[in-house]
Amino acid sequence: MNGKTSMELRIGSSSENESLARVCVAAFAARLDPTLEEIADIKTAVSEAVTNCIIHGYEGSEGEIRISCSIEEKRLHVEVEDQGVGIMDIKQAMEPLFTTKPELERSGMGFAFMEAFMDELSVTSSPGQGTKVVMEKEIGKAGLYGYSGTD
Ligand code: ATP
Ligand code: MG
Repeated sequence: MNGKTSMELRIGSSSENESLARVCVAAFAARLDPTLEEIADIKTAVSEAVTNCIIHGYEGSEGEIRISCSIEEKRLHVEVEDQGVGIMDIKQAMEPLFTTKPELERSGMGFAFMEAFMDELSVTSSPGQGTKVVMEKEIGKAGLYGYSGTD
């Protein structure tokens, strides 16, 4: 692990730790000089991924969530992993509005948000072993196309 460009966080699966995780990842990403909008996008995506570990992966019981981040040039790479129940059908799980917990008033939009707010999203999972979500976002993209002149 390169001390300057990576960070790892292991947290218990409680909802208090969900906000801790999102703030830590945002603070780590700050060195890429993101816009407020980019920070908000990263926080939302991390929050959705960690909430999924708590609610679905561990189904409210105690477990460990590992969050690891790294930076390569202007790209933020984030992994969120649990060792919970896993996902049977990943393609179906990632469809917007699909949820296995409608009784908890979940809307089935977590993966859709992660996909919308990050540039890359991939999910690997084995039933009974856990789930790993890998996301990437390039910071500063808007500046490439947006106005940056003086007139
Ligand atoms: P919302 O995120 O809108 O509250 P949701 O969590 O059900 O609702 P998604 O985040 O899109 O929606 O997840 C879709 C489904 O994928 C979940 O209902 C659940 O069945 C499964 N899933 C997601 N993450 C995990 C995980 N870490 N472990 C086990 N199952 C998961
Ligand atoms: Mg969700």
